[in-house]
Amino acid sequence: MKIIRSLTEAQNLTTRLRKNKIIGFVPTMGYLHKGHLSLVKIARKKADIVFVSIFVNPLQFGPGEDYERYPRDIKRDEKLCRETGVDYILYPKATDMYSKDHASFAVVENITDILEGKIRPGHFKGVTTVVMKLFNIVQPHFAVFGQKDAQQAAVIRKMVKELNLNLKIIIGKTIRESDGLAMSSRNVYLNAEQRKNGTVLYEALCLAKDFIEEGSGDINFIKDEMTKMIMSKLYVTNIDYIAFNEYGTLKNIDSLKKLPKKTEILISLAVRIGKIRLIDNIVIKY
Ligand code: AMP
Repeated sequence: MKIIRSLTEAQNLTTRLRKNKIIGFVPTMGYLHKGHLSLVKIARKKADIVFVSIFVNPLQFGPGEDYERYPRDIKRDEKLCRETGVDYILYPKATDMYSKDHASFAVVENITDILEGKIRPGHFKGVTTVVMKLFNIVQPHFAVFGQKDAQQAAVIRKMVKELNLNLKIIIGKTIRESDGLAMSSRNVYLNAEQRKNGTVLYEALCLAKDFIEEGSGDINFIKDEMTKMIMSKLYVTNIDYIAFNEYGTLKNIDSLKKLPKKTEILISLAVRIGKIRLIDNIVIKY
């Protein structure tokens, strides 16, 4: 396994490799956990060459967010990548990715204005720009993203389709701790008490699933019950949103009654525990 810091070196390499090898790519911000590694394993099965990028992208963090203190540990990441069969880590410097007068961006409109995009203005412009740059550098045949960030996956799928990018997007399922908490690099910020409260996101999603499966079609009622459950936890400071959307298009669902059968419903939420913001989601067939 090799770590490459130079963008030109990486691009020259993938130009050569692409001629007779299938390149699979997993973009990450590092501080890897089993969720990231599950995506690497998917790539490993389908590709000749597996690239992982580790880059905490300043462009997708808003003012006051956690860019500076985002956890970083390249030595640990390097070991995990080696053990999981990664061939190359692309580990660029922020100053190489963005010059001082950087002025070019990739933008997906509309579906980036809701959910995460509403709470974090500019976030998805940062995500789509860095992903577009990384795709151009790594030139993969496919890239693997996690369902944990369901809106991000939908946004990237849309960008790839609408801008005719020459690769496939694969979505890997969310990997959870044994108590249900979705794995996230940000979980390390949680203290012991907050960590216990962290399970409430998945518990609330499961509650919604149970209501729907029992035939309850009243979304406002379900949201109220989820809210009550979440706010009963001592360390929960805010619910940024609880949302029901059609999976893929992210069209808002306000009633289950009008939904065509077999619609895939994305139930997602963002909850603050102390100052730490956690997101989670599930997809259910109606
Ligand atoms: P990040 O390093 O947080 O930018 O995440 C990099 C990739 O890993 C994204 O495609 C995420 O959706 C994915 N990911 C993060 N957490 C998980 C998880 N618990 N299970 C599966 N994929 C995940």
